[in-house]
Amino acid sequence: MEDYMTKKACVISGCKNKDFADLFYKHQQFCKSHYVEAFQGDLSILFKEWDGINEPPDRLKYLIGRYYDEHETALIGKPSLTKRIVHEGSYDWKKTENAVIFTAVRFPVSGKHRGTAYCVEAHQTWEFRLETLKFTFLSEEGKRQKIILLD
Ligand SMILES: [Zn+2]
Repeated sequence: MEDYMTKKACVISGCKNKDFADLFYKHQQFCKSHYVEAFQGDLSILFKEWDGINEPPDRLKYLIGRYYDEHETALIGKPSLTKRIVHEGSYDWKKTENAVIFTAVRFPVSGKHRGTAYCVEAHQTWEFRLETLKFTFLSEEGKRQKIILLD
């Protein structure tokens, strides 16, 4: 008897991948390789539509941020991103032949002392390549100390 609660099928008909199809995209369930195919297909359409001069389509930024959250591991003390930072907290988006470059504004906490947190405002520039779906940290600048009063 099929145990439909644990055995999951990829939405692509005839998919031979017997591994877990546990990735969701547009409310459908995919195996890893078909997920990447669907995702990359949408990304490349949005990328081609974007003129590289104006702000990129909102959904392009959203998908890139989402991919970071789903596939990258943020390490404490290392440059990192979140879905929200990519989608809403980034600027200076540029388009190269097959990649996007953007700068994310982050406020990593550098220390805490008696109700006060010390942060630095860091502008981190990243590259995201469309054919490999890889993020590369390029540079960081504009660091300056900020003080945040905690409750
Ligand atoms: Zn599949």
